[in-house]
Amino acid sequence: FKVPTPINEPVKSYAPGSPEREELQRTYKELKSKEIDVPMYIGGDKVYTETKKPMLQPHDHKHILGHFSEGDATHVEQAINAALAAREDWANMSWEHRASIFLKAAELLAGPWRARLNAATMLGQSKNAYQAEIDSACELIDFLRFNVQYMTEIYQMQPESSPGVWNRMEHRPLEGFVFALTPFNFTAIAGNLPSSVAMMGNVVVWKPANTQIYAAQMIMELFREAGLPDGVINLVYVDGPTAGDVIFSHSDFAGIHFTGSTGVFQNIWKTIGNNIHKYKTYPRIVGETGGKDFILAHRSADAKALATGIVRGAFEYQGQKCSAASRAYVPSNLWDEVKGYIIEDLKSFKMGAPEDFSNFINAVIDEKSFDKIAKYIDNAKNSNEVEIIAGGGYDKSKGYFVEPTVLLSHNPTYITMCEEIFGPVISIYVYDENNFEETLELVNSTSPYALTGAIFSQDRYAAEYATKKLDQAAGNFYINDKPTGAVVGQQPFGGARASGTNDKAGSMLNLLRWVSARSIKETF
Ligand code: GLU
Repeated sequence: FKVPTPINEPVKSYAPGSPEREELQRTYKELKSKEIDVPMYIGGDKVYTETKKPMLQPHDHKHILGHFSEGDATHVEQAINAALAAREDWANMSWEHRASIFLKAAELLAGPWRARLNAATMLGQSKNAYQAEIDSACELIDFLRFNVQYMTEIYQMQPESSPGVWNRMEHRPLEGFVFALTPFNFTAIAGNLPSSVAMMGNVVVWKPANTQIYAAQMIMELFREAGLPDGVINLVYVDGPTAGDVIFSHSDFAGIHFTGSTGVFQNIWKTIGNNIHKYKTYPRIVGETGGKDFILAHRSADAKALATGIVRGAFEYQGQKCSAASRAYVPSNLWDEVKGYIIEDLKSFKMGAPEDFSNFINAVIDEKSFDKIAKYIDNAKNSNEVEIIAGGGYDKSKGYFVEPTVLLSHNPTYITMCEEIFGPVISIYVYDENNFEETLELVNSTSPYALTGAIFSQDRYAAEYATKKLDQAAGNFYINDKPTGAVVGQQPFGGARASGTNDKAGSMLNLLRWVSARSIKETF
């Protein structure tokens, strides 16, 4: 079958004076000026409760964007029932009609919804306009369009037949409902985790991070406007343990699509294991979790390109990407030059609210995150194993602001070289330029994660050697580029080890997890 050929949505520049910039600024102000009351979406109902929780702007935490209605176990049960009630009609709908809904959502987002979802991401998650554009506009549009393409490829995967026999394969939805748990850091992930599952004919209960609800409910409205039938995706705001108790003990639980922390994912996996006898079917467990992503430079690397890779990889969106570069290994021959470029680059970074488009750095997501990052910085200030060569300041009086911080670590296994910080902090270890081999081993063994990593080298043998030696150290490996910013359809995204099940978002591999195939043999 043929569907419209997907192409990556072009990134708008938001240059001063451009119409898109004016529209985005206007929409941002409009959204900021009114407080909204956000319901849960269960079946065809918008559900409001008495428990109203505030939605804050991370860069201006006294300024409330509105409130969301928090639910309890009853709402989770209702959401499961609504999903199961919608299941038969949805699963039986022809794939073209399911696909059309998501293609229409992509068109709406490319057009009239673009500024609103970008503005929501800027306000609620503190992203600058460019980071919002590559996330809530381009990446989400790409997920929707490319997944439709992968869906058709899956349906076309058919076995061989032989004379007198016709074999075929049906790619059915899973038997039950799927739970989608989405993180604060990408609006595109919020849209993709439930929609990729639903596209394949499944029904979904979706719980976003509380700090993402402002954008999440907008995505829900977008899908509804595109024609998503009631009950296919149900959006609830319930605390994790309460939701987990109901969902993971339900006999119709058929899978989880997760992005979030390694600790939470491991606990979920254990709970599912403990409850395994309760389920009709083995649930699909798909998760993208943490990272301690590296940049390794060979002595032949281009110092300027390397410094740019370090700075952009570490500090875009305040380092709050699972893929963010958070440890770098720089050879001694390049260090002085690289350090000079980094310090120079950082001087041009302005920090503040996203409303001023010249602010490259905005706030980190919330107080808990801020305190955790500040603690790592304080530790570094008090340690003689590490020195701060840039940044180190933080202030939460108005918003949760942390300066982009560069640590020079004299110990390659100092905590900031090993643990995920999820903030604008990178640790650099300068190694003897002749010890490339040992350093490769260090990169491979220092952290339990394997999400992204990069080698900078102009020496082709060294680049090849690192690519081979680090084959298990990163699910997304970059040669002479920063380890962030995977593009749907170009760099399928995900990692192994403690970073997840590596089911590659933005690829057919992911969608394959959401079907349960039936082989049919007919003999004539
Ligand atoms: N796909 C994003 C990137 O390549 C990261 C997603 C995440 O943080 O989970 O930068």
